[in-house]
Amino acid sequence: MVERKTGFTVSWQSLSPVLGIFRVKPAAGHRFPEYEAGQYIALRREDCALTRKVTDADGRVRFVPDLDASGIQRRGPVSHAYSISSAPYQTQQEGFLEFYVVRELDEEGRPGRLTESLFRIEPGKDDEVIYFDRIAGDFTLPKRAHGFPHVLMVASGSGLAPFVSMVKQLDFEARAGRRDSTRYTLLHGNRTAAELAYHLELEAIAAAGRIDLVYLATVSRPASSGHDPSLGRGRVSNVLRILLELPSKEEEELVTAEAKRDGVEKARAALGKAVRPALPVGAQLGTLRERMVPADTVLMTCGNASAMSDVQHAAEARSIRFEKEDWKPTLYP
Ligand SMILES: Cc1cc2nc3c(=O)[nH]c(=O)nc-3n(C[C@H](O)[C@H](O)[C@H](O)COP(=O)(O)OP(=O)(O)OC[C@H]3O[C@@H](n4cnc5c(N)ncnc54)[C@H](O)[C@@H]3O)c2cc1C
Repeated sequence: MVERKTGFTVSWQSLSPVLGIFRVKPAAGHRFPEYEAGQYIALRREDCALTRKVTDADGRVRFVPDLDASGIQRRGPVSHAYSISSAPYQTQQEGFLEFYVVRELDEEGRPGRLTESLFRIEPGKDDEVIYFDRIAGDFTLPKRAHGFPHVLMVASGSGLAPFVSMVKQLDFEARAGRRDSTRYTLLHGNRTAAELAYHLELEAIAAAGRIDLVYLATVSRPASSGHDPSLGRGRVSNVLRILLELPSKEEEELVTAEAKRDGVEKARAALGKAVRPALPVGAQLGTLRERMVPADTVLMTCGNASAMSDVQHAAEARSIRFEKEDWKPTLYP
């Protein structure tokens, strides 16, 4: 069994009410295990508001607050895996692990058990985080992208975590004279500019040119006035579709509905409502498309399930090798 150890949150950065970045250090005299960019570790908090499973009369499974006899929600430990967003060299040099997390909300707007607790952390006060002393996972460049001249990374929301770790580590290696010849293209989408974690750092790495990196960020809820023209518009999977010369998901669904003569009005309304995808102003579409040679490319994706499924659809439409990091819940003791 993997040993559980106590760590301490040394910083917490709130990007929005639902997105944050935090750093955890082990207790004095301890070190985190070695890891590769793209891997994850399990974290736990002891005071999570617990839920229990109920099955409705129609067979639908839901999770509702687990109340005691006096109607107070029970509290207890919950553990989940989190991709590490720090680069291995940062952990070696400074001892911390960094995480980029989204606060879970269920369909009824109830917060997720562990993330509700993580978002309550206050460094120096309520800052304890238990970690399982094992770093695992095969969503790494050697395991998923070996031999491909072009790695296309597509991240939605906090799904950027493994990729930012990879890019920072590649840049560190290049600074140390170990540059590889792979082309990297990183697309990151979030709702707003404030939620685009690591934006300036990634822009700086791309601009420095030590690795061949194109970094494109997009927002699905662009400001109605004052949208930053250096950001794309629309969901990341739709911006990907521009690069792969595919229609947007909503356009495609309308064509399908029209062919089947079924659901046309609904599809038309969805297209009308969707933010029309666009690349950042100044992005060179022709040059970007030249990078996307299907046979040379492996597309790696991480993030929310519906975005990943659309990204998979786009990759398959262009016969591009597809790799994803599944964030399926795992049971921890
Ligand atoms: C390898 C891996 C890496 C990950 N990396 C990240 C990351 O970098 N950033 C990030 O934000 N997230 C990441 N995740 C997701 C993360 O592990 C959690 O699933 C997520 O944070 C939600 O946790 P929660 O406790 O807040 O939500 P939960 O309370 O666990 O709710 C999530 C869902 O679980 C179900 N559920 C609720 N209560 C129960 C219960 N009592 N028993 C069983 N199921 C229940 C419900 O369907 C609910 O919608 C990763 C997941 C994996 C597997």
